[in-house]
Amino acid sequence: MKACRTCSEGKDPTQFRPSRPDCRACERAAAREYGASNRAKRNARLSRWRKMNPDKAAANDRRKHYAVFSPTYLRGVVNSIAGARA
Ligand SMILES: [Zn+2]
Repeated sequence: MKACRTCSEGKDPTQFRPSRPDCRACERAAAREYGASNRAKRNARLSRWRKMNPDKAAANDRRKHYAVFSPTYLRGVVNSIAGARA
């Protein structure tokens, strides 16, 4: 058990990144908060990354595009059409 610095909850060490004082949930929340209150900075950093990693950015875009046509998504579409007809 390890106590988180932010939420002071005792959690399993797997809930912490190595030698970090905050649990993963608190780190995630803090990162989301930072991104929301530094939108311009975040957009600049992400577009800089996109420029530096065009192949990775393209791969991410492809993954997002094809996620729309994943079997899970298509099943949902088919079911909603079938449900609308019934
Ligand atoms: Zn925490």
